[in-house]
Amino acid sequence: MNVMFLGVPSSGKGTQAEFVRKKYKLAHLSIGELLRKKIDDPNDPEGQSIREKINKGILVDNDLIMRIIETFISNLSSDEGILFDGFPRSVEQAILLDKLFEKLNKKLDCVINMELDDRVVMERINGRRLCPNCGKSYHIKFNPSKIKDTCDDCGSKLVIREDDNEESVKGRLKTYYSQTHPLINYYKEQGKLIGIDATQDIESIAKNIDDILGGIQ
Ligand SMILES: [Zn+2]
Repeated sequence: MNVMFLGVPSSGKGTQAEFVRKKYKLAHLSIGELLRKKIDDPNDPEGQSIREKINKGILVDNDLIMRIIETFISNLSSDEGILFDGFPRSVEQAILLDKLFEKLNKKLDCVINMELDDRVVMERINGRRLCPNCGKSYHIKFNPSKIKDTCDDCGSKLVIREDDNEESVKGRLKTYYSQTHPLINYYKEQGKLIGIDATQDIESIAKNIDDILGGIQ
């Protein structure tokens, strides 16, 4: 079974993807990780040029990304499923991925979209607090500390993460809508998209997803 997760920041996508990966023993295809692996390999002739591109903020071209993904998939055993994480990022990449699946005689079974409206995203992210000393995280509404702005475990004063401010969150949402949102329509047209209400608690969402995937297997 090959599964993909889509969803806005703070939708709980990462947590659910991890549950699914473990339960269905899927190979985790993270393009970020695969690129880092190449960069860290001194014997990889492409590693250096990838590093330079990333350092300059240039996108790694799709040809190279598709070759890396093809190698990854070809190295899996034939019955091993894949969990796609952070890829594709555009419709162009989704089309290339469909072509690759066709070439390898495989298919994408379903795309799970964690649905959350912007108002909820803002509320979730704006309320986050972090202990700078021990790293414990809180939320002023959903998971508050016992004493206001103070860490339960070590008593340090809680802080707001630098990129959790309203401007930054708006920026992240804007990037999401321009790049990832068109994918939702792309997979909807293919009949592969399954929407999940991400305002539910973690267990309910996990059960929801599990019911759907259990039906596919
Ligand atoms: Zn602490």
